[in-house]
Amino acid sequence: MALNHIHNTAVRSASGQTLPVIDPATGEVYDTIERSNAADIDAAVRAARECYEGTWARTTAAERGRLLMKLSRLVAEHADELAAIEQRDCGKPVAQAKADALALVRYFEFYAGAGDKLHGDTIPYLDGYSVLTWREPHGVTGHVVPWNYPMQIFGRCVGGALAAGNVCVVKPSEDACLSLLRVAELAVEAGFPAGCINIVTGYGHEVGDALARHPGVDHISFTGSPRVGTLIQQAAAERHCPVTLELGGKGPQIVFADADIDAALPFIVNAIVQNSGQTCSAGSRLLVERSLYEPLLERLGQRFTELRAGPPAMNLDLGPLIRQSQMERVQGFLAQAEADGIATVAQGRVAPEAASTGYYAAPTLLRDVPVDHRLAQEEVFGPVLSAMAFDDEDHAVRIANATPFGLVAGVWTRDGGRQFRMAKRVRAGQVFINNYGAGGGVELPFGGVKSSGHGREKGFEALYGFTVLKTIAIKHG
Ligand code: NAD
Repeated sequence: MALNHIHNTAVRSASGQTLPVIDPATGEVYDTIERSNAADIDAAVRAARECYEGTWARTTAAERGRLLMKLSRLVAEHADELAAIEQRDCGKPVAQAKADALALVRYFEFYAGAGDKLHGDTIPYLDGYSVLTWREPHGVTGHVVPWNYPMQIFGRCVGGALAAGNVCVVKPSEDACLSLLRVAELAVEAGFPAGCINIVTGYGHEVGDALARHPGVDHISFTGSPRVGTLIQQAAAERHCPVTLELGGKGPQIVFADADIDAALPFIVNAIVQNSGQTCSAGSRLLVERSLYEPLLERLGQRFTELRAGPPAMNLDLGPLIRQSQMERVQGFLAQAEADGIATVAQGRVAPEAASTGYYAAPTLLRDVPVDHRLAQEEVFGPVLSAMAFDDEDHAVRIANATPFGLVAGVWTRDGGRQFRMAKRVRAGQVFINNYGAGGGVELPFGGVKSSGHGREKGFEALYGFTVLKTIAIKHG
């Protein structure tokens, strides 16, 4: 029975109701979380405010950094335990679950060292004036976290917010709470004061909505679907609360005929297979220069037939999807592809060891997907790669930019001039040349344009979003 974490204490929800925790590999219920409501959010926001006004606002950046570093070490010591929790809760293969825990270590480590490097400016102004700027924390920050990378997303938003001097109220996805509740316990051990980090579980439309509307919340960061991002922004707009939104993508992998194909292939596969395709930055569209299209699809098809989904403990290429509705969503996209005459190049398999009650999807490579088809426009959030051919650079740019999203793009070419031209012309928050994802990179600012959202998380840049700039003008005669 997993409880809310408020004021450094494990507490029941006001409703006393619970929600089931389901193992995606089997469909079995193995634990419960609290079904909280607005009263629990109110208690968490009060605890956070009390902490902020009482002690946290007076801590120095160096003190906060030391606490974060201590927490980073504790997470490292408990990485296997956290990975095991995540493996069962989210169905992640062992290696992915461990990578997530280690990424959390890095986020806390990075922000532990970054907070005391954040400073304002002095500005030359009129004679007799000195003008300076300070970067001040917002105060109480709200964080709505999705289920696909709970630890990583918690690390990047909560790590940055704390380092910048804020306190946090976190609403994890109802499908993935357990690892974060354990991290909150480790934060108590690290010495974070009561109220500094609070976690309230429950449904988005109940708890997430209450957090977005709460007048005591000074900033909201949200990662999830565009639909909910809109709701969050609308709720926050009522009281002019600033919002950072990370809403997913339809990442193009753009491969020119001069690319190093041996180098590109493993990246192309991993970018859609990692976390069973449930990744906002997934490379879910494959754009290939026409002369390379058939040979590349042949090699890629071969690789896809070798891919295996199966129980997380087997550490295969993919685990199950997070929940039944996500599996049905992926099946729906594939059924529509078939109905619309979109050909499948190759499909991997679900291992025989996988329980028939688990939420598995076989990785699938589709070809000649029309640019305006749902499969080329919407996030499937499953292991489905849509391939299409292009004729030249202009054509590639047109297709790459022809979705509502703009989060991450990959370009594969040996031509140095083209590398820069493409980086400039593709509309995305991150463009990778001859790689994809750069290994995660906590140091690299991340976020989107268009419907992928706004604001930046990760890297030093995130600290600007978790602070407000104050200008002080002193007239000294
Ligand atoms: P979602 O947007 O519904 O959920 C994300 C978070 O928002 C969860 O914590 C959820 O509880 C909360 N939430 C839901 N409704 C809310 C509301 N009305 N007010 C406040 N918070 C609310 O995403 P999902 O249902 O988990 O997945 C649906 C689709 O969203 C996926 O198929 C995928 O396309 C996309 N998605 C994107 C990301 C990403 O990293 N960008 C992550 C998860 C899901």
